[in-house]
Amino acid sequence: MRVYVCTDLEGISGVTHWDQTREMTTAAYQHARHLLTKEVNACVQGCLDGGAKEVVVLDGHGGGFNFVPDELHPGATYVTGPNRPTMLPGLDASFAAVILLGYHAMANTPQAVLAHTQSSKAGCRYWYNGRESGEIAQSAIVAGHFGVTVVLVTGDEATCAEARAFLGEGIVTVAVKKGISITCCEMVPPQRAWELIRKGAAEALARIPRCKPYTIDLPIKARLSYLTAEIADTAGCRLSRRVDATTYERVIESPLDVVRF
Ligand SMILES: [Zn+2]
Repeated sequence: MRVYVCTDLEGISGVTHWDQTREMTTAAYQHARHLLTKEVNACVQGCLDGGAKEVVVLDGHGGGFNFVPDELHPGATYVTGPNRPTMLPGLDASFAAVILLGYHAMANTPQAVLAHTQSSKAGCRYWYNGRESGEIAQSAIVAGHFGVTVVLVTGDEATCAEARAFLGEGIVTVAVKKGISITCCEMVPPQRAWELIRKGAAEALARIPRCKPYTIDLPIKARLSYLTAEIADTAGCRLSRRVDATTYERVIESPLDVVRF
């Protein structure tokens, strides 16, 4: 059994402040990398406990260069580094399951830690066939294209609620913090979060038969809005049609292009 783990940084235990996620030069970010790496390791161990024979982990946050390589669990391989050609590089139909680790709720979700969709600074919001969707759904759409089901989502409580709303109650969710505001949370300490994630990953792989891939009707009627007209002006969405000062629309034929505008 092969398992593909997509990671983000905003939903990792111990991360609650933009200073930990935005600028690679800050001490807060450098420490967050260690928190991320240890949480990844817990997830990899849980996958192996649950019967995975091969685990591939994507370093998905920002430019994709966040893991601390010499601290990574030796039992997996890791897709890391900038210039990813697709959202989930290397994922194909040979994988039995996808895990979304350290994810966050979509833009404008109340009491959701570091909530955003793709770009927090640009204030992006996405709709597919009329339903506003965040990064959980975007990743699940790509996985669904290959017939692969998402079985575990971790992050704050709002992330877990969003995951169940889109992917169904059959999946496993692990909440490692509860949002009080966008940058304030009540957190589970990392050491306990790692235990929860390890157990959650093993349990999730046992649930694969109960989950089904997330798919939406094709072609996808897609909409992207930015926070301001100025940001929309500079975004350069060449594939889409501008429908008002802040909004672009396009018809997307392939689920792999779900964030291409
Ligand atoms: Zn991120």
